[in-house]
Amino acid sequence: MVVGDFPEEVDTLVVGAGPGGYVAAIRAAQMGQKVTIVDKGNLGGVCLNVGCIPSKALISAGHRYEHAKDSEEMGIVAENVSVNFDKTQEWKGKIVNKLTGGVESLLKANKVDIVKGEAYFVDQNTVKIMDEKNSQTYKFNNCIIATGSRTIELKPFPYSDRVLDSTGAINLKEIPEKLVVIGGGYIGTELGGAYASFGSEVTILEGTKDVLGGFEKV
Ligand SMILES: Cc1cc2nc3c(=O)[nH]c(=O)nc-3n(C[C@H](O)[C@H](O)[C@H](O)COP(=O)(O)OP(=O)(O)OC[C@H]3O[C@@H](n4cnc5c(N)ncnc54)[C@H](O)[C@@H]3O)c2cc1C
Repeated sequence: MVVGDFPEEVDTLVVGAGPGGYVAAIRAAQMGQKVTIVDKGNLGGVCLNVGCIPSKALISAGHRYEHAKDSEEMGIVAENVSVNFDKTQEWKGKIVNKLTGGVESLLKANKVDIVKGEAYFVDQNTVKIMDEKNSQTYKFNNCIIATGSRTIELKPFPYSDRVLDSTGAINLKEIPEKLVVIGGGYIGTELGGAYASFGSEVTILEGTKDVLGGFEKV
């Protein structure tokens, strides 16, 4: 990032480099625009860093463990199957890094300028991007706001080392013996399911009639 008050001028500024933002940035660049994408976190947003990808990695590792343990009926006998969860987390981290690296390569290959920092709107055509040390002003013709969402902290259950949001649950250092999941949507059921596969005793608390209420019944 350049230090100073001279504004950078771009056709399109994309705020947020999750799946919404990075795809839009690439498309705008392919259409001939000068594009800058900014993210205060890691490229790939929630999905690649703490959402879709790492959750599927944990689910997949949990299934492998279950299958290795429970296939005797099929004549497959694996003895002394155990989980080294540090290694599982390390493996998950490698997958995340590979995919976020892929996003970076795609953005660069399409000549999208990548900026790290938090975007603040100054007026309808101006954004200030700040990181810990510097700030830089950007003037844009178009801005795509793809800032995603964040978890809601429930008042009776403030976050702590034992009350976690989905990011905390994805990055646990140990497999919990018992786990209560508040919310039986797909995130809660996926993460609960993953830890159940690893041997946790999981209870899902859901206020409506069923878990996965918004989904089609199979
Ligand atoms: C555990 C879990 C599992 C999931 N699994 C799936 C799945 O299997 N399939 C699926 O389709 N979806 C899944 N999702 C949902 C998916 O992650 C989101 O729908 C998706 O990430 C939304 O993309 P987005 O680009 O809109 O926002 P995000 O991915 O949230 O990205 C927004 C980005 O904006 C950045 N940002 C925010 N404010 C600013 C600012 N002021 N300045 C600079 N940067 C900023 C953030 O740092 C972030 O990187 C899952 C989510 C979770 C939590």
